[in-house]
Amino acid sequence: MPFNASDKIQELHNFGEFGGVNPSISDSSTYTFLSAKTMFDTFEGNTEGCYLYSRHSSPSNLYLGEALAALEGTETANVTASGMGAITAVILQLCNAEDHIVSSRTIYGGTYAFMKNFLKKFKINTSFVDITKLEAVEKAITPRTKMIYCESVSNPLLEVADIKGLAALAKKYKIPLVVDNTFSPLSVAPAHLGADIVIHSLTKFINGSSDCVAGVVCGTKDFCLALKDVNNGAGMLLGSTLDSLRASSILKNMRTLHIRMKKHSENALYLAQHFEKDGLRVVYPGLASHPGHSLMKKQMVSEYGYGGIMTLDVGSLEKANLLMEQMQKMNLGYLAVSLGFYKTLFSAPGTSTSSEIPLEEQTEMGLSDGLIRFSIGLDNDIHRTYKMMRSCMHQLGILTKNKVSV
Ligand SMILES: *Cc1c(COP(=O)(O)O)cnc(C)c1O
Repeated sequence: MPFNASDKIQELHNFGEFGGVNPSISDSSTYTFLSAKTMFDTFEGNTEGCYLYSRHSSPSNLYLGEALAALEGTETANVTASGMGAITAVILQLCNAEDHIVSSRTIYGGTYAFMKNFLKKFKINTSFVDITKLEAVEKAITPRTKMIYCESVSNPLLEVADIKGLAALAKKYKIPLVVDNTFSPLSVAPAHLGADIVIHSLTKFINGSSDCVAGVVCGTKDFCLALKDVNNGAGMLLGSTLDSLRASSILKNMRTLHIRMKKHSENALYLAQHFEKDGLRVVYPGLASHPGHSLMKKQMVSEYGYGGIMTLDVGSLEKANLLMEQMQKMNLGYLAVSLGFYKTLFSAPGTSTSSEIPLEEQTEMGLSDGLIRFSIGLDNDIHRTYKMMRSCMHQLGILTKNKVSV
């Protein structure tokens, strides 16, 4: 039986103060203590059942964390004010000055910039490798390596990481495997495949409303407590704390995640299959032509599908820009970064979300400038969307009557 998290999420029930069906929102930054001794114990890290200060933890953030731990099947989870807030805290918690990271070279632009540029301050070096080649990953590991880092389905190239294989390597060298699972909540369960720490940008599919930024670190109790430690915890000391009001709204949106993921995947598969038949250069893990297709099939929870993200290479940046503007005019979606919204979102990653990656490196990893990343929405009639998108492509000469011209 593959791990299926949505039942686990639905089993959670925390009622509100007056029996409300949703838990009450904690509207306080600080908490009173009945005795001075308890306050001292809480500072010493003995926090069971006691709240100290909302940067450390708050009831609303704990409820959301509990749901996310159920999603990933980890012991616990800490929510953060953004996905980057989760990623940077994990990295700085695990690495000391002059340590080393082995990371996939196709990752979120912000994560790439943090590893490549910001971590220079601490002389922490990262080897960026082709994560689909386990030998290359193993070769890059040194005695100073403190983690293997990857995304389950990578941004924006949709490379599929062999999480079981990477976890075996991580175990062999006694280092943690850290996986950003933002692109594939529910459909990939990295912790069940052996990952030690799972990160999400909640900003995307999990919240699904494009109304806030937030993140999470899912892991063991020990690691999550260490992140919150008042003396040494990167989560506590860097201060990327999520607001309780937002934690509560994200938790409510999580209730529909399983329905939304199925629809995003169904619509994306439909478009990917049809555009591929039309002769366009489509990348989608659900297509047999995708190099990671069989691996994805093996490691995913099939009912949630291959996810809502696909890319289309229309040949040049100019054509990509014209197509995106035209699709927006036709109300087929929005020219915007980010993903996981009810409406389709599209952007050209080379000039937007991956612009932190130098041009020559973009070319080397296959990130061409005519590439459009689509986050496919929850369209009720995807066939209608397909026909309208196709007509935009005809108008711009990207598709000729029966054949592609790119
Ligand atoms: C958006 C994103 C992030 C960063 O998350 P924020 O919430 O914007 O800080 C990290 N990883 C991936 C894969 C993302 O798509």
